Amino acid sequence: MSDLEYLRSLIKAVPDFPQEGIMFRDIFPIFQDPRAIEMLVSHIVNHINETIKEKIDVIVGLDARGFLFGPMVALRLNAAFVPSRKKGKLPGETLSADFKKEYGVDTFEMQVGAIKPGQNVIIMDDLIATGGTAAAAGRLVEKSGGKLLEYIFLIELADLNGRKNLTAPIYSMITF
Ligand code: 5GP
Repeated sequence: MSDLEYLRSLIKAVPDFPQEGIMFRDIFPIFQDPRAIEMLVSHIVNHINETIKEKIDVIVGLDARGFLFGPMVALRLNAAFVPSRKKGKLPGETLSADFKKEYGVDTFEMQVGAIKPGQNVIIMDDLIATGGTAAAAGRLVEKSGGKLLEYIFLIELADLNGRKNLTAPIYSMITF
């Protein structure tokens, strides 16, 4: 079994969560298995080292599951980690970007100065569905003056075609 097949086998499909009709993909079994965590982080680091020539300055992780492995990847790349957080959680001056959720609008914030103009940035999250969340984080990178080189997702829900809402290249490890 390849590393990706092993990781895929750990992702649990949970029907009707958080509401009826939704098939939720639970990634936490990966984090209960140290071997799987190592596979996940190494796979992403190898992908970046093999396909991106530029030095990565910043990994942006999206609230909240992007915080689980974004910092591990950042550490291995000797890069900074910057969170894109839900509104009202970050102290000091922040940039903000709205995005549509199933019901209503949500807002991401990023601290001013966390990304410096011209820095090479990768955005990382556990899953892309409609792409609205990732697109908002992309706007924050843009407002900061960072250069967004790629989006990386552990899971892509292909039917929703969230890709069409993103303007930078996308790498997803596992597709459902
Ligand atoms: P989007 O904005 O692309 O529609 O939704 C993506 C966001 O919703 C991600 O931040 C992701 O964490 C969360 N999300 C939506 N559905 C799922 C799911 O089935 N599993 C997990 N782990 N996260 C999900």
